[in-house]
Amino acid sequence: MITPSHVQELVTFDGGEELVLSAYLNLTPDRQIRRTYRAAFADLVKQLEPQLDEPARAALEREAARVRAYLESEPPHSKGLALFSCTPRGFWQAIALPVVVAESVHLGRRPYVRPLLDVLDEYERYAVALVDKEKARLFTVYLGEIEEHDQVYDVVPGKHDQGGWSQANYQRHHEAHVYWHLKRVAAELSVLLRRRPFDRLVLAGPEEATSELQRLLPRSLRRRLVATFPAEVFASQREILERTLEIERGIEREAEERLVRELFETAAAGGPATHGVAATLEAIWLGCVHKLVVADELRLPGSECPECGRLAQDCPPTCPACGARPVPLADVVERAIERTVEEAGTVEIVHGVPASRLNAEGEGLGALLRFSRSAPDV
Ligand SMILES: [Zn+2]
Repeated sequence: MITPSHVQELVTFDGGEELVLSAYLNLTPDRQIRRTYRAAFADLVKQLEPQLDEPARAALEREAARVRAYLESEPPHSKGLALFSCTPRGFWQAIALPVVVAESVHLGRRPYVRPLLDVLDEYERYAVALVDKEKARLFTVYLGEIEEHDQVYDVVPGKHDQGGWSQANYQRHHEAHVYWHLKRVAAELSVLLRRRPFDRLVLAGPEEATSELQRLLPRSLRRRLVATFPAEVFASQREILERTLEIERGIEREAEERLVRELFETAAAGGPATHGVAATLEAIWLGCVHKLVVADELRLPGSECPECGRLAQDCPPTCPACGARPVPLADVVERAIERTVEEAGTVEIVHGVPASRLNAEGEGLGALLRFSRSAPDV
């Protein structure tokens, strides 16, 4: 499973004189049956080849052979696959991705991590409590996959049992059991939160059960609650997964919209934010980026100064800051993303409407900064 520390490790790897092959492949079931992902990989390599000089072509051939050998020997068991290979430096990573990725092959001094970062920030860890008055099923959903945890089953005496007690007594007895059952579900959720920390919580079930459970949640869980939906306690895992992913997509899009709005509002007010390619690249150079915001399709050629690290959209013969000779980059945006992660900043890749706004008003690139660059010292 991929984690932020995993990405950190990839981002800090530098092949130096040696080139790293990065490949993203789609292993959806139709592809797996006919094994055509190997043909897809061969096509991508063939497309890349003519763009390379002779030494790079030799490196591509060497690393592609290694990837082919891996694909021959390893049966696929995930929807997507990310591979990173630099044989002369003994570097090899194969990361199974439980989601579909856009297929691509890259060759460069460093692993190409942008699609991986995009997968990571699109998905948060969700917990779902599916409850009724006597049963509960707990799930976690992460990266498009669902996992079911322990069931909580409490015997709740029926409302209408006959016996020596009055109807009112039975009613109270029944309600007390329901109360203790839901109380236990809340406790189980707290245990799950400690064992498998999750970002968001969803409650599902008949409305009377979910609303009662909601009241009984401790603050740590209530803070994470984002949605409630009606469902049968015997609902299939697939149904729970689909509803949860739908909620997740909505929340992620809203968060992207808020972020882009915050970026423009903060910058307009003279606060710690900037946008536009030149200004954002400068902020990265100065090491003051807290969160880099990138429109998903943005790719720009540019350069990086090997001495002072200055990033630019063009490739001047000498660095205006230090006079060294900048190294041309096929995509300066990718390097901007890597540099942000290296310096412990975070990256948010935005899509759809917020991406269009960022493109239109900020050239597709912006950043929330660690401090306001224009503010006077206080
Ligand atoms: Zn420089």
